[in-house]
Amino acid sequence: MIQDEILKLKKEKNAVILAHYYQDKEVQDIADYVGDSLALSKIAATTDADLIVFCGVNFMAETAKILSPEKKVILPVKEALCPMAMMITKKKLKRYKEANPDRVVICYVNSYADVKALSDVCVTSSNAEKIIMSYKDRKMLYIPDKNLGTYLADKYNLDIDVWPGFCCIHNNLTVDDVLALKEQHPSALLLIHPESPLAVLKMADYVGSTKGILDYATASEHEEFIIGTEDGILHPLQKNNPNKKFYILSSGLRCYDMKLTKIEDVLYALQNETYEITVDPKTLEGAKKALDKMMEMS
Ligand code: SF4
Repeated sequence: MIQDEILKLKKEKNAVILAHYYQDKEVQDIADYVGDSLALSKIAATTDADLIVFCGVNFMAETAKILSPEKKVILPVKEALCPMAMMITKKKLKRYKEANPDRVVICYVNSYADVKALSDVCVTSSNAEKIIMSYKDRKMLYIPDKNLGTYLADKYNLDIDVWPGFCCIHNNLTVDDVLALKEQHPSALLLIHPESPLAVLKMADYVGSTKGILDYATASEHEEFIIGTEDGILHPLQKNNPNKKFYILSSGLRCYDMKLTKIEDVLYALQNETYEITVDPKTLEGAKKALDKMMEMS
């Protein structure tokens, strides 16, 4: 069985398999750890494994490499990219910083190493609120997700410039999606990820990261929830809460890139130790500073 081969190779190579909540359920079930960007980054920074197999998209594997430079980090499918991370470049950020030297640059982890290296601190959706609030009296630039930045600027009346990037999945959610699902399930609570547009977030009962949504639904006395994030989260939600009901807010909540990795790719990756992630040492050093600062502050 493919799962047995993966477990055997993992042991032989002292490897650890990390999987994001947005992966297919077969991939989540074979992983040593399933989590969001923050949890997986923490594991990558502290693991004793020699080989990290990162089932997610490439900025996540790159982040693991930056946090654990001495380890070999592999991404099973090299085409698994995050479109949001490609919506900002080092060159454009440099130009912005020259024109706005007084702004603290807060960088979402959904970005590449050369962009992180030009930033003051990184954040994930789990710790963005806490870290941004520690700069509340400063002028900020939030990159590259316009929705998360706009949501926090609006909530706390902060002076944040937002980069015009977005998640192609969450950004498509609409007020009509919410109205339609609310009509079908009037007593369900609405839990939404902050990469969604502000008008939709304002209708939510809870706004939070993928892990936040999982924890909220698990702790809640409520029995029905409308879920406004990528549909991979339904697997852990249902596993943790077999008696509760979850309805996905839109059939469009499926990240093509996250779903590229299949269990066969995990086996191939372990057999061939592909595709290795590398980051040039100078960029790695700069990006690590911004990520280490996030770890200290979260
Ligand atoms: S869900 Fe959105 S932010 Fe996450 S990898 Fe896919 S496109 Fe990028």
